[in-house]
Amino acid sequence: MEPAAQPGDLPLQVAQIVACTEAEGPGRRFALWFQGCPLRCPGCCNPEMLPFDGGARLPLSEVIERLRRAANQQGVEGISLLGGEPLAHAREAAALARQVQSAGLSVMIFSGYTLEEARLLPEPAVAELLSLTDILVDGPYIREQPEEHRRWIGSANQRIHFLTDRYRADDPCWQRRNTLEIRLRDREVSINGFPAPSAVGLWKRLRP
Ligand code: SF4
Repeated sequence: MEPAAQPGDLPLQVAQIVACTEAEGPGRRFALWFQGCPLRCPGCCNPEMLPFDGGARLPLSEVIERLRRAANQQGVEGISLLGGEPLAHAREAAALARQVQSAGLSVMIFSGYTLEEARLLPEPAVAELLSLTDILVDGPYIREQPEEHRRWIGSANQRIHFLTDRYRADDPCWQRRNTLEIRLRDREVSINGFPAPSAVGLWKRLRP
């Protein structure tokens, strides 16, 4: 039997990390995409992140260290958790969010579940994760309802819940144009931000 993981060593199944981005929520954010989603939104822009196998298993302590560096060196003000489906990794996400809030940084989550559905999920860690979340963008991605006005939001059905008073709906940052970031490193290309199918197609064409 494997020994129980210590809180600092809890492994996270991670598809991708972008240490500093302005394309996944207010300010500069440390974005982490979990590997694995039980939902199947037609037109999902991250189909490679749907299987629970894959990605990399990173200890929580390593993620925290990378976040600490991003906060100190790049002025990151919080994390954004995406996927994949963060609520399907609620225990690990809650452990991460607890440390993030303790460090005075903020937590934003993009989930395919609505808030009402999330509150009915049986995993107790989901409630803890929600209690540690400042902003929740909720609901499945609906390809036929592309969002045309709100920044960072994929489809018009998705709602933005300000679960704490740390951020405000009337902050002008929500009204600016959407952002697409393209990174080239060695032979790897990654794109994050506006989840339009055209961006996904571009990413596929650029992939080595
Ligand atoms: S919830 Fe997100 S990752 Fe999961 S299928 Fe829907 S769009 Fe894709």
